[in-house]
Amino acid sequence: MTNTYFKVWEIVRKELYHFIKLHNISKVNYTFEPYFNYITKKYKIKILPHHFSDEAILGLTLIDRLGISFSYEITSIPARQNFTKCHELGHLVLQHSGTVFSENKNNKDWQEIESNYFASFILMPDIVLLSKIVYQKRSFQDLTKELKVSTLALERRLVELLYFQGNLSKIQAHEITKSYITQKPKALIETIINLKEKIIYDYESIKVDDIDKLKEYIKEKHFITQLDIPSLIDIEFQKTIRKLPDIEINTYYNQSCLVIYVWNPQKLTPEESLRKAKIIHYELKQKRTS
Ligand SMILES: [Zn+2]
Repeated sequence: MTNTYFKVWEIVRKELYHFIKLHNISKVNYTFEPYFNYITKKYKIKILPHHFSDEAILGLTLIDRLGISFSYEITSIPARQNFTKCHELGHLVLQHSGTVFSENKNNKDWQEIESNYFASFILMPDIVLLSKIVYQKRSFQDLTKELKVSTLALERRLVELLYFQGNLSKIQAHEITKSYITQKPKALIETIINLKEKIIYDYESIKVDDIDKLKEYIKEKHFITQLDIPSLIDIEFQKTIRKLPDIEINTYYNQSCLVIYVWNPQKLTPEESLRKAKIIHYELKQKRTS
């Protein structure tokens, strides 16, 4: 089980932290939704509600020649639906074999266990737990609301974090989590502080290339300057950009103030981009004189 936990964590860490950095997602206001929406959009996944009595099937993934669809039990509480949705996403991202995945409470095979870890990590990543529990001093109840998870899911996540990463016994992990639930956070905070270095290293060691950032920003905003990506002032980086298809780069220099700007020529004309650059230039000049 330890191997499964770390195997899934390694995949999520690379995937999710890269996403968080690429899209400048705030750790303070983190929820699973931006990542979930991004992936479902990328794979054109249909998300549908369904209903079976007694929550007989919590979630269902169907993959066929028409595409991929996820469905979730409409009568489940929203926090549970969120877990189900992330669990279904896990089967896809972890490239599990099969075309139908159906969830019921007794599912215990390895693909189901992996997907449960996946959902748990996406909903409650280490770096976000560190930030919310240690720095923001959030209570157990606050965390369930802010991260949109059930009490059961958060409790299990914390026990697993303490057990697998904190090397505590199962009994200790449960005791510390129970104290946190009953408003006595001291032991949990201390334990997570001990894991701090590793958690931060896991996060910091994921790098995002400026070129990837640039492509992503251009896709989203169509126009960026060195205020979005400071390395645009680097001549070598500018040369690399000039070689890219469907991306234009130019500079606007006036009154010893420089704006380097990049735009998507399919969305903006050179004149429109220049006008935007002049506005940024004006703002920069204002800031300098104020
Ligand atoms: Zn499943």
